[in-house]
Amino acid sequence: MPHSLPITQADAVVIGAGAFGLSTAYQLATLGAGKVVVLDQFDPASQTSPRAAGLYKLVQADETLTRLAQQSIEIIRGFAEASGVPLDYVQSGSILAARTPAHAAIVDQEAEASTGWGVALERLDASGVARIAPYLTGRDIRSAYFIPGDIYIEEPISLLRAYMSAIEMLGSIVLGNTPVTGITVEKGEVTAVSTPVGSIATPLVVDAAGAWARGVGALAGVDVPVAPVRHQLLITRPIAGMSPSEPIARIIDASAYLRPARGGLMMGGMESHPIAVDPRHDPGFRMEDTPLDMSVLDGFIDLLGPLVPALGDTPVAEHRGGLFTMTPDARFLAGPVPGVRGFWTATGCNGSGFSLSAGIGRVLAEWMIGGEPPFDLASLDPGRFGSGPVDEEELTVAGLWRYANYYTPNQAV
Ligand SMILES: Cc1cc2nc3c(=O)[nH]c(=O)nc-3n(C[C@H](O)[C@H](O)[C@H](O)COP(=O)(O)OP(=O)(O)OC[C@H]3O[C@@H](n4cnc5c(N)ncnc54)[C@H](O)[C@@H]3O)c2cc1C
Repeated sequence: MPHSLPITQADAVVIGAGAFGLSTAYQLATLGAGKVVVLDQFDPASQTSPRAAGLYKLVQADETLTRLAQQSIEIIRGFAEASGVPLDYVQSGSILAARTPAHAAIVDQEAEASTGWGVALERLDASGVARIAPYLTGRDIRSAYFIPGDIYIEEPISLLRAYMSAIEMLGSIVLGNTPVTGITVEKGEVTAVSTPVGSIATPLVVDAAGAWARGVGALAGVDVPVAPVRHQLLITRPIAGMSPSEPIARIIDASAYLRPARGGLMMGGMESHPIAVDPRHDPGFRMEDTPLDMSVLDGFIDLLGPLVPALGDTPVAEHRGGLFTMTPDARFLAGPVPGVRGFWTATGCNGSGFSLSAGIGRVLAEWMIGGEPPFDLASLDPGRFGSGPVDEEELTVAGLWRYANYYTPNQAV
């Protein structure tokens, strides 16, 4: 921890140097919001965000999320030019596929809706799947689409570092090992945040504290209903012939995703019996303490079976995990919090926060500066669950259900 804060007054303080906080701070600084300070309790960019798979996904559950996904990919593609900081990404495209009739119907529905929302995609047959993604055999595929606009970032930490460099170049600050321990609210308005080494007076505070967001909200007297739920992935050792430009694949019936990674394959999946891990009950918790369980990933390897033979045949080089912040309706909590002027949230990632935080940071910054959201963001309103605290157990149950049904949000199959 620093001995004292290098700054005592800021135009905005962002709590949390993960994907949401850094994106929001970068966009605020870019749009000329003045002095922006990002505070993190640990080293910046050290918790959930660097553990992500780095996948971007244009096929989303509704038009608002689709628009944010489109904007997010545009921001990443244009980031180096706009910020002057290099950032690599892979324009791999992705495959969305299903092997059962019920899941094929879901994929077909999603493809039709996404086309209506402006997403370009092409239907594939099983041989087309194997042709454009040779790591997949195409076996048992009943419905599949190629989405050429999807991208991935090989090492998620690279995006976070790029944001930090850009924020610094714009004259704003990211401070690590500086936990926010208090938020001052006077006459219904945020006026300052405090840390063990001093306070910063500010009219604008963003709660982007990830799995800790509910605890941070409580400092301002508001409920931020997120249920943190474990998620894990693996990366295999290199596989002969694997190319980084092969597409991402999402296999809906297995609730699993794959992509090329470090010369091998990355695979992650949404477990059907997920576990909730709430850092509020463990003050010393760090993301590396998330309990990992390889048997869960072995289950996905079995489910993917003959479609991805290399997966079962190649030793695992890395196994990592962290926490999704789930909400009862699987939508972000992004916007001003009713009742406390100047207090905003950028959280409730529901498993898509690494990617969609690019667009969310942009729309929040435009809203903070311009006074109006750039388009209708009511579905992400942090106040939509009411003013009182959301029942703890109901929140956890809903979050676990949303996690387990990540790829089948409208019906459990
Ligand atoms: C294994 C895995 C794979 C994933 N893959 C993808 C993917 O492919 N695509 C995708 O879009 N999403 C993915 N996600 C989800 C994505 O990682 C998250 O949505 C995203 O990283 C959340 O970012 P965040 O900023 O909310 O959280 P974090 O990165 O955890 O940042 C929050 C920060 O707040 C800080 N903080 C908390 N309390 C305080 C306090 N009191 N004072 C100061 N600082 C505080 C924390 O220390 C932390 O650094 C994945 C997640 C996991 C676990």
